[in-house]
Amino acid sequence: MATKNILILGGGNGGTMIANKLRHELDKDRWNITVIDRDNRHIYQPSMLLVPFGLDDPKKIVKPRNKYFKPGVNFVQDIIANIDTENRKVTTTSGKVFQYDFLVVSTGCNPDPEEDEGLPEAMGKNAFTFYNLESTTQLRTALKQFQGGRIVVDISSLPFKCPVAPLEFSFLADWYFKKRGIRNKVDITFVTPGAGVFTKPKATAVLSKIVEQKNINTVVNWGLGTVNAKEKWIENMQGNDRINYDLLVVIPTTIGDKAISDSGIDDGMGYVPTDHNTLKATKHDRVYVLGDAANVPTSKAGSVVHYESEVVLYNILSEICGGVAMPMFDGHAT
Ligand SMILES: Cc1cc2nc3c(=O)[nH]c(=O)nc-3n(C[C@H](O)[C@H](O)[C@H](O)COP(=O)(O)OP(=O)(O)OC[C@H]3O[C@@H](n4cnc5c(N)ncnc54)[C@H](O)[C@@H]3O)c2cc1C
Repeated sequence: MATKNILILGGGNGGTMIANKLRHELDKDRWNITVIDRDNRHIYQPSMLLVPFGLDDPKKIVKPRNKYFKPGVNFVQDIIANIDTENRKVTTTSGKVFQYDFLVVSTGCNPDPEEDEGLPEAMGKNAFTFYNLESTTQLRTALKQFQGGRIVVDISSLPFKCPVAPLEFSFLADWYFKKRGIRNKVDITFVTPGAGVFTKPKATAVLSKIVEQKNINTVVNWGLGTVNAKEKWIENMQGNDRINYDLLVVIPTTIGDKAISDSGIDDGMGYVPTDHNTLKATKHDRVYVLGDAANVPTSKAGSVVHYESEVVLYNILSEICGGVAMPMFDGHAT
């Protein structure tokens, strides 16, 4: 019997989980499992929040990606360029072509400063993000040198990864400056396009009280339009309100991977239109979407990817056995 191929795009949280789960279930002689990722550096993303405060070391949160795959999972280091769902093949920038019987898209999402006007000029000068390793390492130095003034923690737009992380950053900043004995010289202002400090009403009620106790200012319903690094202000989308800053900690507009939009299989923001309950791509046969790359209305978080991977596993196995994809995902996160 001919060997069949399951191709997994992206070897981050989702790609690694599903590759190992499928390898555990499927016969090695009948099913090849291949993961493609652009690099062999697995960054433990939650720790990027801790780096600016000296609570974790940037060198320690990066591990070799290939170490986490079970024996029998093929890892290919290359950049995915095109996904051709009609002919069931994926092409990489080095020109390699991979045919598939089932495809799992788990290319994640990333904040892109280029999406926000004026932000590229500000990055590394007086604006930083803890959403990438290089910038969060620079932010550690910027915080160390900060002697007083206004720190604006700004969520540019929705959705973004790990909805609670910017608030956690603000709480940690409160702790950090208290420890340094200069909290009274630092204004921490939390700015969000959301209607409250968090997405869920019950959590928002509790977290709003903590925000108040910690003397953190909040601005809600405020989407980022422009950054002016020279004059140190940010302006909202409507262009009718400005907030001055001394140090900007920003979560730039988050989008899906370029390969998804270049292949024309996205929703306009680089996310793959996905059935919210089966996690199957709505327009493409034999394609599942796992994690942040999906346009499912749930948190973009590792915990969610964990629950989703069980559903994707079940449904691929079901299709292999001649069954159908079951609507098992209910969107919950922990
Ligand atoms: C600061 C921060 C704190 C967080 N804290 C938490 C937390 O406390 N709890 C929690 O549950 N979640 C947290 N998260 C979110 C969590 O890390 C992500 O939701 C999770 O990693 C998503 O998994 P994924 O597989 O969808 O994407 P990723 O893990 O991002 O993996 C995507 C992979 O695809 C690869 N890729 C993309 N495009 C291409 C291409 N064209 N070619 C080749 N390879 C490609 C990338 O290199 C990457 O390895 C946090 C995130 C951040 C940034």
